[in-house]
Amino acid sequence: MRKQDLLVFSLLVCLFILFHGRSALATTAIIPRDQEMVVESRAIVTGRVTEISTGVDPDTQLVYTYIRLDVTRVLKGGISEREIVLKELGGETRELGTMIFGMPRFDLGQQVLLFLNTWPDGALRVHQGFLGKFDITEEPSTGRFFVERRMVDQNVSVIPTSGNGTSRSELGTYTALITDLMRTNHKGMRDFERRFFSGVPMLAQPTEFRSPRPGAGFTPQWVLLNPGSPARWFEADSNQSVVFYVNPTGAPSFAKLQEDVQAAMDAWSKAAASIRVVYGGTTSGCGVQIADGANTISFNNCDSYFAASQGCSGLLAVSGIIRYLPNQTKNVGGITFGKAVEANMSFNPYALCNFTNRCQLQEVMTHEMGHALGLGHTSDSASTMAAFAHFDNRCASLMLDDARGIDAIYPSGSSSSQLSVMTSSLPFATAETDYTASLEASGGSGMYHWSLAGGQLPSGLQLGMSGLLFGKAGANGSFGFTAQVSDLSGNISQRSLTLVVRQPGLAPVITDAQFRRKRIFVSGDGLQENATVYVDGEGLSATLDGTTLMTEKRKLKSGVHQVYVVNPDGKQSAVVQLVVE
Ligand SMILES: [Zn+2]
Repeated sequence: MRKQDLLVFSLLVCLFILFHGRSALATTAIIPRDQEMVVESRAIVTGRVTEISTGVDPDTQLVYTYIRLDVTRVLKGGISEREIVLKELGGETRELGTMIFGMPRFDLGQQVLLFLNTWPDGALRVHQGFLGKFDITEEPSTGRFFVERRMVDQNVSVIPTSGNGTSRSELGTYTALITDLMRTNHKGMRDFERRFFSGVPMLAQPTEFRSPRPGAGFTPQWVLLNPGSPARWFEADSNQSVVFYVNPTGAPSFAKLQEDVQAAMDAWSKAAASIRVVYGGTTSGCGVQIADGANTISFNNCDSYFAASQGCSGLLAVSGIIRYLPNQTKNVGGITFGKAVEANMSFNPYALCNFTNRCQLQEVMTHEMGHALGLGHTSDSASTMAAFAHFDNRCASLMLDDARGIDAIYPSGSSSSQLSVMTSSLPFATAETDYTASLEASGGSGMYHWSLAGGQLPSGLQLGMSGLLFGKAGANGSFGFTAQVSDLSGNISQRSLTLVVRQPGLAPVITDAQFRRKRIFVSGDGLQENATVYVDGEGLSATLDGTTLMTEKRKLKSGVHQVYVVNPDGKQSAVVQLVVE
C-alpha cells in the first residue's frame, strides 16, 4: 500500500519535470537531486578501492563483482568498519560471465565518494548504479580535490531531462552540502529507512564473501577490470532466432506490450545483420538476476534489483547477457566472443513514470534490447545505444552507428530486394481517442527511417521515425499524406496513404461481410480494435487488420445469418445479412 502511494507521488513529480524540461530533452539527464540521493541511500562514505574480484553467487548462480574499499570517512550510516566490501551484479570468472549494463565501474586505487544501499540480504551496493558513484580527483594546478560523477561510457541508461543534482563539485563543498542536507532532511531519512529497509541489516561484507559455506565453492577470483571476452548469440550463425518472453505484470497501462516488444526486436532483426530476435509469448519469469533459462522482459522488480527511490529519476531499466560462457568462443571480425546463454531486461518500477507514450517506451526497449544482444554504449550521442534516452520521436529506430555495431557482431553477407512501403491502408482513427498504427516496409538494406514527405497528419498525431503513427487526433476528417521510408544505403520509397478520423461516438458501418476458412470477415467504417462481431446473437471476438475484423473460428451452416458489430465504446452497427453457400 505504501509503495503504491510512493508511485503516485512519483508520477506527479515526474509530470512536472517533463513539462518543464521538454526543451532540454535531448541533452541532459534525469539526475537525482542531491536531496533524493541523501535520503534514499543508507550510507555515504569516501574511500579507496583496494581490491576487485568476481565470483559466482551460490544463490543466483550469476557472477557478481566484489569491490573492497578502505573507508576514509563515513558521512552517513552505521558503518564502523575500516574496510567494507560492495557487491555489484556482473563480471566474469573463468567459467561463467554476467554482462550487465548498469553497474558502476571501479578502478583499483581509485578514490571515491559513494552513496550506498543494500541488497535485500544486507550486502552493500552503490545506490542508483553509476549515479551513486563519484570519483575523487585532485586538480593538479591547485591541489584541490573534486568529486565527479562520470557520465560517459557508463553502462547505464539514464533519461534526458532536467534535474538539479550535482555532477561535479569541490570535495569539501560537496561533503558540507551532504551534511547540511542530512540535517534538514532528518525526518525524511528516518521515514524512508523505516519504510523500505526496516529489518534489513547493513553488512560490512556480503555473507558469501565473509563465510563461504563448506562445499559451496565460493571463491572470488582476481580479474581484469573488463571482462576478457564480450558475448554474442551464436544462434545468429545458424539462422536460429533468439526468443524473448514478456512478463506483463507492472507494465505501463498505455503499453501494447507484444507490439512494443516486437517493434524493438524488429529494429535489430531488420538492421541487415544476421541476428533474429522473436517474441515468444508471456512468462511468469521476472527480474534481471533470475536465471531460469528463458530470456525475460519484465517490469515488476521481483528480484529487488532496483532500490526504492522517491522522485522519478535515475535508472530506467537494466539489461544484459546474464549468463555467457567465456570458454566457448568464436572469432568474428578479429574479436573473440563468448557464447551468450541467457539475457534479461528489467524495467525500474520507480522510474516508469518517465514514460508517457509508447514511442518513448519503444526507444528504451530498443536500447535495452541492444544490450541484450551484446552491444554496449557508444560515444555517438545520436545513436540509440548512446547512454542517454533521446525521446525525440525515434521510437524503435536504429541510427547508423547502431546498425554498424550490430552488423559488426552479427555480420551478414546477404543482399536484399527493392525497398518498398508495404502498408497500403490504415485503420480509422477516432477523434480524441488514442491511436496507434505501424507503417511497414520490406526489402532494402534495413534500418528503416520513416518521415512525412508530403501532405499532413491530423493535429495531435505524430509519425515516429520507426514508422509508429501515434497520438490523439484533434479533429475529424480525411487526411492524405505521403509516407517515406529510407534504408541504411540511402534508398527511398514513398507511398500515398489516407487516414480517416471519425467523430467520436459514431456507430460503425458494415460495408461487407464474408465467411472464409471458418472465419467471418467484416469490413466497414469505424470498426475498432477489440470490437465484438455478433452472428445470430452470439458474440465472437475478433482482431482488426486495417479496416477488416476477422473473428475466431466458427462453424456456420449454409443459409442466411444476421451479423452486426459492437465497438468497445458500445456503439453498434446496423444488422447485415451474411449468406453462406
Ligand atoms: Zn544502456
